[in-house]
Amino acid sequence: MEVTKNTAVPYKIYLEEHEMPKAWMNLRAFMKNKPAPFLNPATKKPCTFEDLQAVFCDELIRQELDDTTPYFEIPEEVQAFYKMYRPAPLVRAYHLERYLDTPAEIYYKFEGNNTSGSHKLNSAVAQVYYAKQQGLTNLTTETGAGQWGTALSMACGFYGLDLTVYMVKVSAEQKPHRRAVIETYGGKVVPSPSTTTEVGRKILEENPGTGGSLGCAISEAIETARNTPNCRYVLGSVLNHVLLHQSVIGLEAKAALDKYGITPDIVIGCAGGGSNLGGLITPFMAEKLQGKNNIEFIAVEPASCPSLTKGKFAYDYGDTGRTTPLMKMYTLGSGFMPAPNHAGGLRYHGMTSTLSQLYHDGYMTARSVKQTEVFEAATLFAKVEGTLPAPESSHAIRAAIDEALKCKETGEKKKILFGLTGTGYFDMTAYTAFNNGTMTDYVPTDEDLKKGFATLPQIDL
Ligand SMILES: *Cc1c(COP(=O)(O)O)cnc(C)c1O
Repeated sequence: MEVTKNTAVPYKIYLEEHEMPKAWMNLRAFMKNKPAPFLNPATKKPCTFEDLQAVFCDELIRQELDDTTPYFEIPEEVQAFYKMYRPAPLVRAYHLERYLDTPAEIYYKFEGNNTSGSHKLNSAVAQVYYAKQQGLTNLTTETGAGQWGTALSMACGFYGLDLTVYMVKVSAEQKPHRRAVIETYGGKVVPSPSTTTEVGRKILEENPGTGGSLGCAISEAIETARNTPNCRYVLGSVLNHVLLHQSVIGLEAKAALDKYGITPDIVIGCAGGGSNLGGLITPFMAEKLQGKNNIEFIAVEPASCPSLTKGKFAYDYGDTGRTTPLMKMYTLGSGFMPAPNHAGGLRYHGMTSTLSQLYHDGYMTARSVKQTEVFEAATLFAKVEGTLPAPESSHAIRAAIDEALKCKETGEKKKILFGLTGTGYFDMTAYTAFNNGTMTDYVPTDEDLKKGFATLPQIDL
């Protein structure tokens, strides 16, 4: 058949059940230059286990603070949950290759094959499992685009925990059906900023009419966790333990590629807080750090919220209300308010400290792409590969297409792997705007960026 240039590789590579990962991989254990420790904002000293205990689950704090243990066993119950929707297929994008007429080979790891519609479930189930083990009864969280809230509601529904989700207001309005799915699994949804918390009321007073941001929603969720008995806060990205859980993406992808003797030349992922990208690159980057490969890693972010490409590498808060520990990361400033747009899950002012350090040390590159370019790639992908991609994932598709087109010019047969993090069924407001030609490309001005940077804490170390 014309379509398949290399028939040795099937359309989809699935792992057998016994080939699925039994342990998560901790990328930090392989880094010589470790990410800087989180700081307690009151003492400016590295955070201790006790500092974090009021807000986070114990086992997750242990994972969070551990930058030396290379592997963490996946609890059997979590492995069993994974089996409901994993292994996720590794797909050879033969149709996209043919459409682009490129000599490049394109592969994608598809994480949208569960009801949450994204990779977020990989960490949600682990986090709720540990919360239940600890005897907690309530959890709070934030959700941007809604995928994390859905994933966590699924996991809480399964384990019988109560969940309150602070959902970024523009998303709650744009995606009423997301909200309905969260509620169907038992989660309670509060559009943020809200009047239910002190920090929410303050943010509303200072920015009346704001559509909210992940940073605001996090502040509200943390405040509620502190004020509710037997409750903790859980986060769907940015933190080290989330990257650890998401390593299952990369471990499966690498095992699938290894079956056919394939080593990618380029690995691409969209980057919001950095969890899917961190998880996807983990086993490949660990090898690069040991000098075993020379893969090019590319983080793709929205031009509207360009933390890596325009941000500063500095200690900053993880939330707008300035309640989290300080993290050394690429950041636009915790006060940066991204313009409302459709890259919901990527609208975060910072970037996980692990990827920030790797980027700073030159192990990874980053680029930003504009919204309409992203949706051009998304609709092309939907037509030729069949799957309707999430807008977030489509940032990676855009970069994969651009790299494949470069190969067409140079004749290089590069092997490109990207993460297709989810599906876009709940993003039809965004697709409609693109189809109508009403979608705009907002890029923050220097003035906007300056306002964000002005909110960086002044820290003398
Ligand atoms: C949340 C989300 C992202 C971005 O989050 P990361 O932590 O950067 O991975 C990307 N794609 C989808 C589908 C998401 O739901």
